[in-house]
Amino acid sequence: MPSIFQPFDQELPGKTEWDSPMFRLAQQQFLKAAQIMELDENIRDRLLFPQRSLTVSFPCRRDEYSQVETVFGYRVQHVLTMGPTKGGIRYHQDVNLGEVSALAMWMTWKCALMELPFGGAKGGVRIDPTKLSRAELQRLTRRYAMEITDIIGPDRDIPAPDMGTNEQVMAWFMDTYSQQVGYAVPAIVTGKPVVLGGSLGRTEATGRGLVYLICEAANHLGMDLTKSTAVVQGFGNVGSNAARFLAENRVKIIGVSDVSTGLHNANGLEVNSLLEYVREHGVLKGYPGAEEVSNSELLELKCDILAPCALQNQITAKNAGRLDCRLLAEGANGPTTLEADQILIEKDVFLLPDILGNAGGVTVSYFEWVQDTQNLTWTLEEINNRLHKIMVGAFDRTLLRSQRDKLDMRTAALIEGIQRVAKAKLLRGLFP
Ligand code: NAD
Repeated sequence: MPSIFQPFDQELPGKTEWDSPMFRLAQQQFLKAAQIMELDENIRDRLLFPQRSLTVSFPCRRDEYSQVETVFGYRVQHVLTMGPTKGGIRYHQDVNLGEVSALAMWMTWKCALMELPFGGAKGGVRIDPTKLSRAELQRLTRRYAMEITDIIGPDRDIPAPDMGTNEQVMAWFMDTYSQQVGYAVPAIVTGKPVVLGGSLGRTEATGRGLVYLICEAANHLGMDLTKSTAVVQGFGNVGSNAARFLAENRVKIIGVSDVSTGLHNANGLEVNSLLEYVREHGVLKGYPGAEEVSNSELLELKCDILAPCALQNQITAKNAGRLDCRLLAEGANGPTTLEADQILIEKDVFLLPDILGNAGGVTVSYFEWVQDTQNLTWTLEEINNRLHKIMVGAFDRTLLRSQRDKLDMRTAALIEGIQRVAKAKLLRGLFP
């Protein structure tokens, strides 16, 4: 759909505690949307920074007993207006306050867009989890959970998995919190194993939700998925599940990648065999039956659907002009810069923006929290039906706004979210 790009002339505030390339991107996207929707200036300035940011440093003992490392951790709550805050925990060597704050801001718009009763939050620890033993990972998680325990809680702020964390990490997190209060508190985190109060369908929810949206977008664009090809960057939780559900919809997967390599096969890759290979070898590198490509080459492969599901800042002014896809489905948070957005709009690439594209995860996290707080257990069918309804509803609202106001899909999705938060803020008024 041709979009009319609105000129954007908002200055960013000067250097602040949160300053980082990713936080600047989140702020710029927000300011562009705020300008177009003529957001009240007081509300705009209030939403430009997180309400609470906690930075902690703590010791982590390695398996070699005498070796103790000081590591940095964060928990950021962007908006406390909407209900408890919600957002994942990332373990990655590049994590910093600015990155976590950007992710927390996006969580606010995402929850509001999906009409979930949460504000946005995010957490992270600056460490490479692939370099830790299982015992080290457990000690790190327990100590980090203790360090942030004062500001989290089932009614306050509910963490979940993100890059570098998984169900097991959530189980240790839940156990640590429960040990402190003296009884089991399943609702303290989502994305737990099902036997600990986790929800059916949560693990694969982000990938599943993305593919529900791809089906809606294909329908809107008149694309036949059974004749379409896809490239997926990242083969972790989001990427591997997105690839799996795309394949179930008979889309031909011609490229995948992870941190170790990219793989290309124009005749199609067998997703189950890729999953089997990764289970055995840990990474994709060495997978037979495909040509190795770099991650940057992978993004430029000709395909119908490109799904970045790894890291931020992958599609920039440098490579956006060379992308050769019809549909860009963002599973990762912040994979595309503002300059790249503009190039893709001009190329008429249809975008499923991150706050919509990967919202399946937080939506099923919400279902998990509802089940935990009310002692309910829903079937997988109930969960997937509810997820489908919410994803399609948000897609329809975003597309409608995009068409009606002649906006690109990212700006339309942001405005949908921001508008809800702004309305709530005005209704609650100012204290004191
Ligand atoms: P994950 O840790 O399970 O997987 C990350 C994948 O990215 C791995 O395959 C890893 O090898 C790959 N990767 C890392 N560095 C790379 C690089 N330089 N180039 C290419 N690939 C690289 O993480 P995940 O949970 O799948 O998260 C991926 C993205 O999706 C993140 O942006 C995250 O914020 C976002 N997200 C995740 C969820 C969720 O439910 N897990 C929900 C919403 C958004």
